[in-house]
Amino acid sequence: MATMEHEVTSPYLHLFRRYLRQQGLPVTSQRDMVADVVFGSAAHLSVEEIEAELKKRGERIGKATIYRTMEILVRAGLVEDHDFGDGFKRYEHVFGHQPLHEHLVCTHCRKVVEFKRREISRIQHEVAREHGFIPQRHRLEIYGLCPECQASGVTLSRNGLACLGLGS
Ligand SMILES: [Zn+2]
Ligand SMILES: [Zn+2]
Repeated sequence: MATMEHEVTSPYLHLFRRYLRQQGLPVTSQRDMVADVVFGSAAHLSVEEIEAELKKRGERIGKATIYRTMEILVRAGLVEDHDFGDGFKRYEHVFGHQPLHEHLVCTHCRKVVEFKRREISRIQHEVAREHGFIPQRHRLEIYGLCPECQASGVTLSRNGLACLGLGS
């Protein structure tokens, strides 16, 4: 009898399965395994990183399947997708770690750091109210150089996004 290399164990998996059933989509072991990788990580994973992690677990699941599964997870509200300007999306689950957090993105090494400030949601609500909006969600990403890249001598290019609006 073949034993599974890596048992899918995420406590959030049942939410995903329930969503699939509600939508009339097949609940497959491949989808389970893809979701398990994302639910089990606090990182911001690309499809390639998810594929690599699955491979480590002894599973060969194609990028197209991973991508489609991620789209369903995003639609289900269980995973957030981010475009940090890499030319591909990164995914993180919405459970437990730092709800409503913002991101600092290093434009050199592509490191992503999370932070959270209560003032930001306060300002968000104020601005929305001033414009008659009901806020649902927001995104804030700060692009620049992380301390390690600065220490290794990397400098910001002048026409980088980070300079937009700050020049004279
Ligand atoms: Zn960096
Ligand atoms: Zn994040």
